[in-house]
Amino acid sequence: MNLTIMNDIKKLVFSTHNKNKHAELQAILPDYKILNLYDLGCDTEIQESGTTLEENAFIKAEFVYKKYAIDCIADDTGLEVDFLNGAPGVHSARYAGDSCDAKANVQKLLHNMQDADNRSARFKTVIVLFLDGKPYYFNGIIEGTIIREPRGNNGFGYDPVFVPKGYDKTFAQMDAKEKNTISHRALAVKHLVEFLQKL
Ligand code: IMP
Repeated sequence: MNLTIMNDIKKLVFSTHNKNKHAELQAILPDYKILNLYDLGCDTEIQESGTTLEENAFIKAEFVYKKYAIDCIADDTGLEVDFLNGAPGVHSARYAGDSCDAKANVQKLLHNMQDADNRSARFKTVIVLFLDGKPYYFNGIIEGTIIREPRGNNGFGYDPVFVPKGYDKTFAQMDAKEKNTISHRALAVKHLVEFLQKL
C-alpha cells in the first residue's frame, strides 16, 4: 500500500486539477500531504463520462490507479435542486455549457428557479478511495436552500447562492474554516478518515 510514504508523512494523491478542492481537502486533512494531478506531472483532462457521481469519482480514481499504480482518492460533487428534479446534479460543473464558468452556472440556476417557491437543495459529495486496486465509497450531504441573489465572495462554484440549513448566510459568506466544518466534502472526508484510521 502507498498511503504512508517515508518520514512519517502520509501522502495521498487526490485525482483533481481543481486547486480550490485540493486546498479544501488539504485543510480538512492536515495530517496528510495531499498531492494533486499537477504534482504527478499529469495534465490529462480526465473525461467525466459517468451518469452518476459515483461513476465519475470512480473514473477519476481508476485513471490514477491504472496510470501510476498508486493508492488515491477522487471525488465528484453535485448540487441537487428539488424544483429542478435533481438538476444540475451530475452536470453541475457544465450546467451552462462546456466551457462555462461558475458565474454562468449560477446565473442559469437562478434563471431556471425564478418561479420556484420550493428552493430546497443539497450538495452531495462522493469520494472513492482506491486502495490496493479496490474502490471504497464515502458520501457527504448537506441540505440547504438556493437564494434569489448571490451573496458573498468566498468559496467557489454555487457557494454564493447556497444557504446551508440552520444558517442565515451562504457558503460564500463563510470563511474556509467554517465551511470546511460543515460542508458535504467535509462530511465525506470525515467518513474517509474514519476508514483510514481503522487500517
Ligand atoms: P466537482 O465534480 O466536484 O468538480 O464539482 C462539480 C460542480 O459542482 C462544479 O461546478 C463545482 O463548482 C461545483 N461544486 C463542487 N463543490 C462545490 C462546493 O463546495 N461549493 C459550490 N460549488 C461546488
